[in-house]
Amino acid sequence: MMAHPVQEGPYRYRIEPTGAMRVPGVVFASAGLLREAGRALEQVANVATLPGVVDASYAMPDVHWGYGFAIGGVAATDPRDGGVVSPGGVGFDISCGVRLLAADIDAPGLRPVLERLMDGLDPAVPRGMGKGAVWRQPGRADLAGILTGGSRYAVEHGHGEERDLLRCEDGGAVAGADPGQVSGRALERGARQVGSLGSGNHFLEVQRVAEVYDPAAAEAFGLARDQVCVMIHCGSRGLGHQICGDHVRAMDRGMARYGIEVPDRQLACAPVDSAEGRAYLGAMAAAANYGRANRQLLAQAARRVFRRVAGARLELVYDVSHNLAKLEDHLVAGERRRLCVHRKGATLALPPGHPGLPPDLREAGQPVLIPGTMGTASYVLAGVPGGRAFFSTCHGAGRVQSRHQAARGVDGRRLRSSLEAEGIAVRASSWRGLAEEAPAAYKDVSAVVEAGEGAGLCRKVARLVPLGVVKG
Ligand code: 5GP
Ligand code: MN
Ligand code: MN
Repeated sequence: MMAHPVQEGPYRYRIEPTGAMRVPGVVFASAGLLREAGRALEQVANVATLPGVVDASYAMPDVHWGYGFAIGGVAATDPRDGGVVSPGGVGFDISCGVRLLAADIDAPGLRPVLERLMDGLDPAVPRGMGKGAVWRQPGRADLAGILTGGSRYAVEHGHGEERDLLRCEDGGAVAGADPGQVSGRALERGARQVGSLGSGNHFLEVQRVAEVYDPAAAEAFGLARDQVCVMIHCGSRGLGHQICGDHVRAMDRGMARYGIEVPDRQLACAPVDSAEGRAYLGAMAAAANYGRANRQLLAQAARRVFRRVAGARLELVYDVSHNLAKLEDHLVAGERRRLCVHRKGATLALPPGHPGLPPDLREAGQPVLIPGTMGTASYVLAGVPGGRAFFSTCHGAGRVQSRHQAARGVDGRRLRSSLEAEGIAVRASSWRGLAEEAPAAYKDVSAVVEAGEGAGLCRKVARLVPLGVVKG
């Protein structure tokens, strides 16, 4: 579908419905970010054609081209109106997300041992293909437990603290997981990777709180200026990838039976209340739990290294997914409706007072964790009252260059030298992988966050800068 966005408010553009579009597209961006969105806006328009889509097909300020659906997209459907669920609306890395931990040490205190800390984290964080995992050989029962219990299962088996679960979205486990819908191949891929980072865009970063914008919220989140933090970005590895592929194929075969036509095969979907729809949601929830257990295990690995090298403790600030579909209740034009909300490269941002928040976060709103780049900054945001796009906001800076373009533009070794010259310790697993993630490959995260705040999606709480990065 063609997309001609027209400004309709501060940081807000509208794509009028044309052709098969059932709702408008709405893009939250500055004029500059809108230009950087490029052809992803055609994907935003395509998503507006899906059966049962409600309100609008939304794009966050970090929107960029993805598989069928743009990354940085939010779309809700109503199952009672034939609303569909689409694996492409969640993405291949199901429940990819971010976890932030706060250390009881400040940056000047850590400086003398930073190199030793990074040398400890490097081997403690398995990445890449087949390079092992924290939980080396989970038995069949363990894997089943992880798929249904997520972080909760990991904590119950000694990998974490009970308090961690209070600071995880959904208490650490998504309901409704159905391991029976996960193929043998997906299980096989998953069994070898429980507690591993994955490649490229995934990382474990040691950071410093450089600036606090909202002292009350920062205090509720356990953050103060100069404090050391650990940010972990990873997902569901080969298991999630395999599940996405398996279910895209099943839905592609089934669409004609439901009389569904989509403008792009990568938008393959099925009614939420169909055999294919339920099967995908059950498998997706299992992958989501796997992703959460994965972040729980990597956090434990970081805790051990921090204790050993720096004598410091790490407390969980929050853990939130940015690739997920959830059944949620929302008010649409004054009517309460249960919707299937797809967020792909978009983060849930619950407002202050929301019952889905633990009591100690009710007043501040949900912590929203936004990685930027390993050379610039990352942000902690919070949900706001009246949050738009079904309480969603951005998930990162968002790419402006493909991996290929980025790797052509810079040499990995030179990139490491320039980061190290700025005082950022780098532990990479491949030079090519590092180059693909060069800061220049991403939009300006500060501009993205400003647009999100200006559009009424979220508010700024703190800015974090990198001290050291373990790159997938
Ligand atoms: P995605 O989930 O789309 O792969 O990545 C989310 C975001 O992570 C990207 O949009 C980018 O802004 C951010 N990111 C990628 N690599 C790094 C890194 O090494 N450090 C930090 N802080 N952010 C990163
Ligand atoms: Mn991912
Ligand atoms: Mn991600």
